[in-house]
Amino acid sequence: MDHYRNPRNKGLTNSSTYVKCHLKNPSCGDMIDVESLVENGIIKDIRHDGEGCSICCASASIMSEVVKGMTVEDAKKLLENYLKMVSNQEYDESIDFDELQVFDGVKDLPARVRCASISSQALLSTLTSEDK
Ligand code: ZN
Repeated sequence: MDHYRNPRNKGLTNSSTYVKCHLKNPSCGDMIDVESLVENGIIKDIRHDGEGCSICCASASIMSEVVKGMTVEDAKKLLENYLKMVSNQEYDESIDFDELQVFDGVKDLPARVRCASISSQALLSTLTSEDK
């Protein structure tokens, strides 16, 4: 996968203007940090870093590209539905997942669901904490 070999938006800023979340996936050793920068309700930047399998790294890279420029509200809706899609729950099929759609196949690989989810979960939690 191109996103695995050439990840987008990789590397943290460690800036205080970004909200950061760290998540681990013990079952496969994935570790990920996600940072988001939100201004006026718009996601201005996403950074991620960590070590993980190809699914974990590729999903972080693709996700960072897909949600950048979205409103926080739209991004949350997309991510929540993405998490449902990969864990084989009903989701809103009218949402345009863009490149994240490729992870639709993960629902048939239960061991990989968490790999495809943790970057989205980490991002969601940074966006949620910015609500305050
Ligand atoms: Zn993994």
